[in-house]
Amino acid sequence: MTDRVIIFDTTLRDGEQSPGASMNTAEKMRLATQLEKLGVDIMEAGFPAASEGDFEAVSKIAEKLKQVEVAALARTSKDDIDRAWGAVQHAAKPRIHTFIATSDIHMEYKLKMSRDEVLTTAIEAVKYAKSFTENVEFSSEDGSLSDRDFLCKVFEAAIEAGATTVNLPDTVGYAIPQEFGSLVQYVGAHTPNIHKAVLSVHCHNDLGLATANTLAAIKSGARQAEVTINGIGERAGNTSLEEVVMALHTRPNFLDAATHIRTDQIFSTSRLVSMITGIIVQPNKAIVGANAFAHEAGIHQDGVLKNPMTYEIMKPETIGLSTNKLILGKHSGRHALHSHLKEMGYDLSDEELNLVFTKFKELADKKKHVVDEDLEVIVTERILRTTDVFRLEYLHVISGTTVLPMASVELSINERPVRGAGYGNGPIDAVYNTIAKLTGATSELLRFSVSALTGGTDALGEVTVRLRENGLIALGKGADPDIITASAKAYINGLNRLEYLKAHPLKASEGL
Ligand SMILES: [Zn+2]
Repeated sequence: MTDRVIIFDTTLRDGEQSPGASMNTAEKMRLATQLEKLGVDIMEAGFPAASEGDFEAVSKIAEKLKQVEVAALARTSKDDIDRAWGAVQHAAKPRIHTFIATSDIHMEYKLKMSRDEVLTTAIEAVKYAKSFTENVEFSSEDGSLSDRDFLCKVFEAAIEAGATTVNLPDTVGYAIPQEFGSLVQYVGAHTPNIHKAVLSVHCHNDLGLATANTLAAIKSGARQAEVTINGIGERAGNTSLEEVVMALHTRPNFLDAATHIRTDQIFSTSRLVSMITGIIVQPNKAIVGANAFAHEAGIHQDGVLKNPMTYEIMKPETIGLSTNKLILGKHSGRHALHSHLKEMGYDLSDEELNLVFTKFKELADKKKHVVDEDLEVIVTERILRTTDVFRLEYLHVISGTTVLPMASVELSINERPVRGAGYGNGPIDAVYNTIAKLTGATSELLRFSVSALTGGTDALGEVTVRLRENGLIALGKGADPDIITASAKAYINGLNRLEYLKAHPLKASEGL
């Protein structure tokens, strides 16, 4: 019989720690709803002690979602655990996830604690968390670099104190698959009460080995994988959910384990995360990259046409990449749009639906077919970004080979209209100079990139910017059939995200 691997998604917590990836509460709610639809077993909704924003988002997610387990992260202090429980207590299935570092280097330099002190602290934290809920996960931060026998001793004590899951993180992404697999085996063999808990792993991708390490751990008996969509996360990121899930799906005989993920939701979830966070998926990314199922080379194409299985180990439909998806046009009515949005996972109020319908009609006038990606953009821009400080109201640009590029812009700043005009080296430069003047922005533009959202010359142009101000980094994203308007939207979105970061300072940014 094939064993089940529990999928613990931490896109909302560890994923959000990617530089610039902060999400507002509405965006997190939307993503959480989609993650539930994808069928993740547990979602780590945040780190409630880290900020007020995190606390609020975790509470709302816990109250709304009814099927999935909702976890909140906490260090070992009572304050942290109180905050975590405060946020998840109304969940249908709450989990408290507490952690402390167990490697000598972390204990000596960061915690300034001895092994015995760490052991006692871990036991007390698990017991305290257990006083609120049956469902407690304990993680040994920097586990892969911890003394093996000490690690087993801490896990044994945590399980004895009531932990139902023990998690072994490769916090700094240092492990090599064979070595990590053997560590998991060692822990399995030398933690006497390990059968009373689920053994979990949490890998980082600094050497590009997060997925390989996770699979090696599963092969060695780990039964929970901590992952994020598109592998987003601190530094080089986390293990990517889609890679682990599809490896298990494609090689069930070798790995002898399976997940409950609805794989046909993988692609839309990946798109949504990229849209909300502004972090673009690299084209050659496994499973969800734009080229992952594209067979450009002539010789391969011939083989694929004769029999897809010659070069395709997976079918695009399996991850929800279908070529004949429902398309809406300018004659589609309000009702068709409503039911289609519902199918995509959006439960909009009448007022919100009206807003989206107006934008949909505008777009359908410019573009023959409106596809899911387009609708996702409209909802993300019109509904999820409700707390925006800056909004683009009007844009007019003059540009060409013989004129000095000039932009006139009207913005609303906290619902107050402001207007201005400015010049630049090109039309986008003119727009950015004018917006910076109107908003008083002092941020530095670190990166600017343009891509097409779907095929065809009438496709939406998608612009991503990366801004930095006083050490804070924000990504901004905008889409529009007009590339200059998309650029303006992306810049304004980035500025709004910087405002959000300033208004929601982090009290702590630790993790595992
Ligand atoms: Zn992590």
